[in-house]
Amino acid sequence: MPAFDHQGLRAKIAGAAVSLSDNAIAPALVAAAIGQGGATLTAHGALSVETGAFTGRSPKDKFIVRDGLTADRVWWDNSGAMAPAQFDVLLNDIERHLAGQALFRQDLLAGADPDNQYDVTVLTPSAWHALFIRNLLIRRDDGIAISDRAMPVTIVHAPLFQADPARHGCRSETVIALDMSRNLVVIAGTRYAGEIKKSVFSLFNFHAPDQDVLPMHCSANLGPEGEAALFFGLSGTGKTTLSNDPNRPLIGDDEHGWSAKGVFNLEGGCYAKTVNLSAKAEPEIHAATRRFGTVLENVVLDAGNVPMFEDVSLTENTRAAYPIHVLPSIAKGSVGGTPKTVVFLTADAFGVLPPLARLSPDQAVYHFLSGYTAKVAGTERGVTEPQATFSACFGAPFMPLHPTVYGAMLAQRLEQSGAQAWLLNTGWIGGAYGTGKRIDIASTRRLLSAALDGELDGVDMRFDPLFGFEVPMSVPGVDERLLDPRQCWADGDAYDVQATKLVALFRKNFEKFGPEANADAGPKLQMAAE
Ligand code: ATP
Ligand code: MN
Repeated sequence: MPAFDHQGLRAKIAGAAVSLSDNAIAPALVAAAIGQGGATLTAHGALSVETGAFTGRSPKDKFIVRDGLTADRVWWDNSGAMAPAQFDVLLNDIERHLAGQALFRQDLLAGADPDNQYDVTVLTPSAWHALFIRNLLIRRDDGIAISDRAMPVTIVHAPLFQADPARHGCRSETVIALDMSRNLVVIAGTRYAGEIKKSVFSLFNFHAPDQDVLPMHCSANLGPEGEAALFFGLSGTGKTTLSNDPNRPLIGDDEHGWSAKGVFNLEGGCYAKTVNLSAKAEPEIHAATRRFGTVLENVVLDAGNVPMFEDVSLTENTRAAYPIHVLPSIAKGSVGGTPKTVVFLTADAFGVLPPLARLSPDQAVYHFLSGYTAKVAGTERGVTEPQATFSACFGAPFMPLHPTVYGAMLAQRLEQSGAQAWLLNTGWIGGAYGTGKRIDIASTRRLLSAALDGELDGVDMRFDPLFGFEVPMSVPGVDERLLDPRQCWADGDAYDVQATKLVALFRKNFEKFGPEANADAGPKLQMAAE
């Protein structure tokens, strides 16, 4: 099959525009966004925008073109399928919709490793989305090694286009469609900017294993001897918060590859949650929200245009998007060597998991495949039952292949590197949500640095009979009682009931992986059987 003519498509769409802003930098994009309406400068100079109806991703509206390349490889239980002809109709209709509009074109890169790089062009009629993706991906003048063999990707962004399910084979007027064979993406009917960055990630997650690269939904930073640490976790579990550490240069915020050479960032920016953001607990992120060029999404401003980060009236999922180089401490070239530590973050609203546990390699793969976290349910009539979420590889919506493909690669990488895996619970202790409280960021950071710095190599560990992992008996600087969740609960029996409930959920979820995955490395209903 001849290579798809990306240059031709890009030129055609740009050529049909009434005007084209070509690779504009932040000041011009900020001015254009304000001119287009709906964007305001905050008191500190960041650009504040609202995304309207969609304040988060729309995973059910995401489709992969089902063709010869993808039919037998994509895990269709987890992804919607679109026929190639429907994709072409959709792309054509969007081209016509964009023709005659003022367009913004950004030519960026994804992949800080020249052997694993994408040449990404985004075309959008929205100035602030152009600024967003310029902040999030790698800019050509970032000093990242650029390959002339980078794989072209074209993203056509039409936030105001309304898709037609009958005509385009989608589910609603919102559609995110990915053609893995030609590396084309169309995004329509949503203004949530995170869709753009996550679509690049989805392409990478499909292709990377062919290049012997493990694609990962994780943040990454470097220790004092240049040893990398990875932080996996679902949304809101602390990847961005905990990887920002003045003593550990940041490799990247959210998406990485692990090749035979080591870890590399896919992106060139950060997309931080800002709910309840404080200068004290998260100084680097807080400072980044006060700079010109940063995009603040769905953050409510006061009368003087000062952000009110505690205000969740638009959404809990308020965000700041900024280039990685605004942070005080970043890794040169956005790469790191072979990881020494792998941390799985979870925010356990059941209050069952210990705040820190050491995992064997098999347990690491078990928790990677499970991808557990728990949210607090809505407070309808005062009911606050936790809701478990299991999302394979800590990122199921953007991992197109079967999770065991990524799981097997992780197992191999852990074996080759000898990296130590940990489970870090940033969620509730002393009871479930409602009774207990969320562990404070300072205690979590203390536990994390003890694990990262090898402080726990010689300390006594207790064996956890339910989960089978090891839990440190003491960590300097942390109240010992915190380390044993059962001791934190006022009623030990109530803890056992809750723990049994969670173990059953883990086991039930794991059944979907079939016999290939090692369920024995997971928790056992031992307590209930006794
Ligand atoms: P996403 O994948 O959506 O980017 P993320 O894993 O990067 O999610 P963060 O942006 O780090 O998640 O969000 C963690 C949130 O939880 C922050 O708002 C942080 O302030 C809050 N938080 C509260 N307690 C803790 C804790 N003990 N550890 C980490 N974060 C905590
Ligand atoms: Mn994050």
